[in-house]
Amino acid sequence: IEAHPNLSDAAPVALSYELFPPRSPAAAESLWNTIRELETTEPDYVSVTYGASGSNRDTAVELIHRLLLETTLRPLAHLTCVGNTPEELAEIIGELLDTGVRGILALRGDKPKDGAEPAPGSLRYAQDLIELIRRVEQRRSALLCAGKIAVGVAAYPTRHPESPNEAHDVEVLLAKQRSGADFAITQVFFHTEQYADLLTRARRAGVTIPIVPGVMPFTSLRRVTRLGELSGVEPDPKLLERLAAADSDVERHRVGVRATVDLANAALEAGAPGIHLYTFNEHQSALEVLDKLALPRHSRAASRRNAIARRQLAS
Ligand code: FAD
Repeated sequence: IEAHPNLSDAAPVALSYELFPPRSPAAAESLWNTIRELETTEPDYVSVTYGASGSNRDTAVELIHRLLLETTLRPLAHLTCVGNTPEELAEIIGELLDTGVRGILALRGDKPKDGAEPAPGSLRYAQDLIELIRRVEQRRSALLCAGKIAVGVAAYPTRHPESPNEAHDVEVLLAKQRSGADFAITQVFFHTEQYADLLTRARRAGVTIPIVPGVMPFTSLRRVTRLGELSGVEPDPKLLERLAAADSDVERHRVGVRATVDLANAALEAGAPGIHLYTFNEHQSALEVLDKLALPRHSRAASRRNAIARRQLAS
């Protein structure tokens, strides 16, 4: 039995990456190259996204399976409740546990674009999914003798598009904690104050779980703009201007890495318990950001350099 990630007791500064299941054999090959590079930095875990309504369920499970079998990485499986019945979700949770997964990011998922209301009896909120995970865990307590499942949730430095206000988002985060969440990862944000303010408001309301900032490398103008549209988070206009004004791809990359490092370092100074990097299945920007980050626990960059040296010696 794989020891559980124990994210709730995570070391002072944790490092993690987000990956998504590949959509083609070529994408899979490139992803595995990325995975090998990221592995050298010894992250605490890598998260694997889950398509709306389980659209990529098979490729997600396959990726998680391979991560467990072929790497030293610990997967955190994203799971969404929209579009699946509670029975189907219980089955998926069981399947993940059987595969050896011990960490799940419990999400609602985005509502269907046609505006269809959830079927009667289906789970409405991430909170309901956390409770389901905890029930499945209880039923399988004999299997899980190595420890409980780590359950993560989403948190929002800027108002979730469907919420009346940010205070409501904090109430929801508190409810998720009470239902059994161990830690939270934030949506992308562009200003440190937004993250620092979430920490202050959450702690004041009684949220005690770690809230890890989700940080995307700002190296692609197209990606920053697109993510803003998808998540409802307004990108920083000054950053967009600087990226657009860069006179070459190399310069744009440099500007993007610098802005990301500044944001992540400021979040660490504000008390972030770790950094979760949205990689978009590419290692280059993530590793450049990591190299310049002031991660106090131990130098990930040094462990990466050691791993590369070992690899060169072996070849
Ligand atoms: P919830 O916490 O359920 O919140 C949804 C809305 O309902 C919010 O407006 C909230 O305020 C409200 N609400 C929640 N509980 C209650 C309650 N008890 N009473 C009243 N109102 C309530 N999407 C994917 O499809 N796949 C992924 O892999 C994925 N990964 C993500 C990873 C991270 C770190 C983040 C931040 C988001 C991710 N998403 C993913 C997007 C996520 O599914 C959307 O942001 C979604 O709109 C909300 O999900 P949630 O888990 O925050 O939902």
